[in-house]
Amino acid sequence: MTIQENLHSVLENIRNAEKKSGRAEGSVKLLAVSKFHPASAVLDALSCGQKLFGENRVQEAAEKFDEVRTAHPEAVLHIIGQLQSNKVKKAVGIADCIESVDRIELIQEIEKQCAAAGKIIRILLEVHTAEDSKSGFADYSALEQAVEFVCAGNTPHVTLDGFMTMAPFTDDERLIRKSFSTVREYAEKIRGAYPDCRLPVLSMGMSGDYTIAIEEGSTEVRVGTAIFGERNY
Ligand SMILES: *Cc1c(COP(=O)(O)O)cnc(C)c1O
Repeated sequence: MTIQENLHSVLENIRNAEKKSGRAEGSVKLLAVSKFHPASAVLDALSCGQKLFGENRVQEAAEKFDEVRTAHPEAVLHIIGQLQSNKVKKAVGIADCIESVDRIELIQEIEKQCAAAGKIIRILLEVHTAEDSKSGFADYSALEQAVEFVCAGNTPHVTLDGFMTMAPFTDDERLIRKSFSTVREYAEKIRGAYPDCRLPVLSMGMSGDYTIAIEEGSTEVRVGTAIFGERNY
């Protein structure tokens, strides 16, 4: 299967899942996760009309998207992997959104680097919902503290768009569903508590579970393998 064919079927699955769960058509965006795949694969996807991409590692993303953007300045890049503070400056330089924000100190560093660069960036807060994952805010209270920090106006260069999670790697659909519904419930509670903060985005679902995620309220799925094939680590 080519990247074009894969993109086609993933987009079709997304549209079907939207329909099945009574969601508006086009309410779910596709982030194509290109980590470990070359710039040529990203260029292929771009030529099929895909604009939104996700990468885990800042250095890999910087090299790849320098090349990609000379031909396609419309490419949008989200950083989705765990981010060390000393990589924030570089991440802010290349990314349109950082989805894997998992601590308040990281928000402060992003604000500092964006202020220095004269740039406003979007972020998502990652929620820890799976035993086998290491990253993310541990519970509702930790998450709410981070929302409170941003919504109090401490970060003029950071726009909080919503939340992200990774479900457990398991065949047990109940556990996967539980992970997604937990984040949706947290988001609903937080939107109620902070009505002035717009938090529309729920980034949930990967190659193995994106249709489940859409049924549970995802507005953005992060799909790598089903588009670009297996990764050679
Ligand atoms: C790699 C990765 C994905 C994509 O995973 P696939 O199973 O290849 O679709 C999505 N989200 C995050 C955070 C990732 O690291």
